[in-house]
This record gives sequence, structure tokens and C-alpha cells, in this order.
Amino acid sequence: MNFAPELISLLRGISKLVALTGAGVSQESGLRTFRDAQTGLWAQYKPEELASPEAFRRDPKLVWDWYAWRREAVKGVRPNPGHYALAEMAKRVPEFILITQNVDGLHHMAGNQRLIELHGNIQRVRCAECYTFTETWGDDTKSVPQCSVCGGILRPDVVWFGESLPRDQLEAAVEAARTCEVFFSIGTSGVVQPAASLAFAAHSRGAVVVEINAEPTPLTPEANFALQGKSGEILPRLVEAVWG
Ligand code: NAD
Ligand code: ZN
Repeated sequence: MNFAPELISLLRGISKLVALTGAGVSQESGLRTFRDAQTGLWAQYKPEELASPEAFRRDPKLVWDWYAWRREAVKGVRPNPGHYALAEMAKRVPEFILITQNVDGLHHMAGNQRLIELHGNIQRVRCAECYTFTETWGDDTKSVPQCSVCGGILRPDVVWFGESLPRDQLEAAVEAARTCEVFFSIGTSGVVQPAASLAFAAHSRGAVVVEINAEPTPLTPEANFALQGKSGEILPRLVEAVWG
């Protein structure tokens, strides 16, 4: 892929860059996005029907088991070249802020220690009632493990559909979007709010918006540069073209 020379020179002189990532950046690590159909045991469920407070109230065990299965799936995966390219960008750009909607922890594993996790992390578990975090829980397969403090049931520390995002993380993300020179939107379908509005907020404040996605999204017509393809291929090439 040849990148526009204007994009290359812009990135060479950049001081503040924000990147927002979605499930697409982890696709090449072998993790499914929400748009891919689920397979096997979970084929009959849509993620939207499991990742919600209503689903958890209706059938906590079903939701707990789905997350246990996803937690196991994440254990076996590694960051891909897209994650590593973003870690490299963090070293090159004076002010680089990474915001992710992913809950898989792969950015951290790739070396992005400072990051805004808008939707939480599936490796963290907390009480649904009193919010106490726990590092260990019993693996009784018949029921959902309980909080050792109050006896409430445990849940993953992720943001479900219909729940609000952690306020400090969201505020930091909005501030970053409003003040950056370049905003990257990578591997996200741009339909889950409020994350989807960040690129538009950046754009209306005069930032140059760069999208990297395997398919067109609602952001594509607005983006200053829309790079279509896999993030695990495009990002390393871009880093090489700009800083190599
Ligand atoms: P999404 O599933 O709605 O969209 C994924 C996007 O990635 C699509 O636009 C698709 O075209 C694109 N894509 C797929 N493969 C790609 C690749 N190799 N390179 C570049 N783009 C690629 O995901 P979303 O926008 O992140 O939003 C939905 C919700 O999904 C979020 O709330 C997130 O928390 C959750 N989610 C997270 C994970 C994870 O942590 N790995 C996995 C599934 C879903
Ligand atoms: Zn509790």
C-alpha cells in the first residue's frame, strides 16, 4: 500500500495523536469481533444478548459462563503486528493517547502501558453489588461465584450495553479527542456510542481523521484518510513509512 505523501509528512511532524481501537485490531490475533457470528457452544446467542444487565439478571450463570469462555480464549492469544505498531507509535509521538473499546488486554501486553480502557477488562472481576474487586474466585461450575465481602454475585468488570462508561476514562477520552491534531479510528464499526462520537468530535475541532478498517463504516465518508484493509498489515507499514 502507498500512503499519501501529505499523511506521511503530517505524521512526521506530529506532536499530539490519539488512536481509538475496536474489536477489529484483535481479529488478527484470533479473537472474534462482535460482528462475526459466534461459533460452537455460543452460536445460538448474539453477543448483544449476553453483554447486558438484563441478560445477567435473567440468567447470571449463562453470562458468567460466556465470559469465562472468553477469558480462556484470551489466555491463549498474543498481540498481533497492529498492536505492536501502536506500541511503537507511542514511543515516536511526543503525546500519544491510546483509547480502546477492547476488553482483551492485548494493547497492554504489546507494551502500551498507558491506555484508556473505555469498556473495562474481562480479566478483572468485581462484585455486582458492592463493587469490591477480587483476584480469585471459586470455580464451582454449578453457580456464579460470590463476593467474599457481601455475598453478592461476581461479574466481569466490563461495560455492558445500556451501562454507563467509567466517568474518568470517558472524560479523558473526550478531552484527548478535542485537543489532538490527528485522530486514528482503527478496527471499529463506529456504531457503539459514545466511543463512536469521538472521531466526529475530533474532526469538528479540526483534527485530521484517519480511519483504518477492513470495511467502510459510517465514519469513512468523513475521514480525511480512509485506509481500507487489515490493521495488522497497514499499521506496521505506516510506522515504517513514517519513522522507519
Ligand atoms: P465491532 O465488532 O462492532 O466492529 C469491528 C470492526 O472491525 C468492523 O468495522 C470490521 O470491519 C473491522 N475489522 C475486522 N477485522 C479487521 C482487521 N483485521 N483490521 C481492521 N479492521 C477490521 O467492534 P467495535 O467497534 O469494537 O464495537 C463493539 C463492541 O465490541 C465494543 O464494545 C467492544 O467492547 C466489544 N468487543 C471487544 C472484543 C475484544 O476485546 N477483543 C471482541 C469483541 C467485541
Ligand atoms: Zn460484594
